[in-house]
Amino acid sequence: MTEDPSTKPVKTQILKALHSSASDGDLQTVSRLINGIADVNGVDDHGWTALMLAARNGRDKVIKLLLDKGCDYTLMNPAGQTALAIADFWHHPAVSHLINQHAQQGSSSADNNNIINFFGLSILDRFSHKRTEKEWLKQKRMDQASTFVLFSQSSPYVTWSDSSSCRVCRFQYNQLQFLLEKPEGDQPTLIFLGVGKIPVLESEPSPSDSTSSTTTTSSATTTSPATTTSDSDDPAWFALDVADIPEDTIKGIAPSAELLSPKNYLALMSLADNEAGVIGQARALFSWHDRYKFCPTCGSSMRIEEAGYKHVCENKECRSLKGVHNTCYPRVDPVTIMAVIHPDGNQLLLGRKKQFPRNMYSCLAGFMEPGETIEDAVRREVHEESGVKVGHVTYHSSQPWPMPSTLMIGCFGYAVSTEITVDTQELEDARWFARRDIVAALQTGRGTGDTRSGSSEGPKLLLPFKQAIAHQLVKAWVGMTANL
Ligand SMILES: [Zn+2]
Repeated sequence: MTEDPSTKPVKTQILKALHSSASDGDLQTVSRLINGIADVNGVDDHGWTALMLAARNGRDKVIKLLLDKGCDYTLMNPAGQTALAIADFWHHPAVSHLINQHAQQGSSSADNNNIINFFGLSILDRFSHKRTEKEWLKQKRMDQASTFVLFSQSSPYVTWSDSSSCRVCRFQYNQLQFLLEKPEGDQPTLIFLGVGKIPVLESEPSPSDSTSSTTTTSSATTTSPATTTSDSDDPAWFALDVADIPEDTIKGIAPSAELLSPKNYLALMSLADNEAGVIGQARALFSWHDRYKFCPTCGSSMRIEEAGYKHVCENKECRSLKGVHNTCYPRVDPVTIMAVIHPDGNQLLLGRKKQFPRNMYSCLAGFMEPGETIEDAVRREVHEESGVKVGHVTYHSSQPWPMPSTLMIGCFGYAVSTEITVDTQELEDARWFARRDIVAALQTGRGTGDTRSGSSEGPKLLLPFKQAIAHQLVKAWVGMTANL
């Protein structure tokens, strides 16, 4: 399904109307247009968004409305200016204050404008209360409306839409009956993922179709997970492990199906954003089954229950069968990842590991330890890896990272010291990068130079790909910092 070309001039006109009303501070018209079909992050011929135009003209009421409706304050015009930079340049302190406040609030804003990173947007309601209802699950399994996604070695079968992006290959019961109806004990692992809560169309725009892979959900968006409800009649989704089935057999069922390379996890970044969450959920569970084959308490063999979400020890005497034990359930490993801001507010601390591509620097990160708060983990990791001391810590957003089952907790750390001592066991290098270098790297994929040498001939900065939360943290910092 492609977009009807006849609607394009209408959309262009609406966008023009949005831009001129944002410039003029016409709150009523802006409100009417963004509740219709206007693209709140659409740009004009000069690469300016409605938010930038309102910032240029000091329209604080319009700014507030646009931010509330999910306008992306981290977007830059071709000159590398964000809305905040524009407001500062033209001396509109009320506007600067609003954007700053919005940026600082991050995910704590009251109107559910939570930031959703890659792997974080789920099109399913997990329906966890149904995992123990065997009869309901059986009916759903045999329902022709149900969707099955196939995995081998924790990697999904996909269909390529072009050379760089793919969609999950979806199967129905009648195509897989020979596997699903095998005798008990011989059946491949089947995981119940949930029921569809969002109608997914092939032409549905993905968040990364815009300049950002991070999107904000708002009450105005039909894809907002917070505003949709599902019921048990909605189509169910299952993930099936077909590691024992030859690829040719799968291709015999669906000729366009291809297994995404299990050895190259970066291939997962080619997934459509609106399916990445489902695949991340299934991948983390399959990885758990794959790595935890014996009871962690007594070493006996285990069986899978609760539609793929629980391991039960076969040893009737096992301690894990008495009371609730976290060894029975899938694990999630929290990692803090942080953009550390220089005391002057105009530089960011980034580091690189030896195995990174040449000139790539990223946010520092590390696993949390037992008995530690998120804030303390941020301070400890930054100090251990770079010698820099961090004071205040704020939360930005999180990202499930199914390699195999990490939860990245994205934060900003405000440095209270600046001297760097690199822990060479962990990092090859860490340094402060000026905002202008980061802006250049975001715009072109390359920075302008090494800030330490002060020379534009220094190494060029390369940032992580946009699907990584590190990229989104850096981008958010640029959006909340106006100094140029
Ligand atoms: Zn046991």
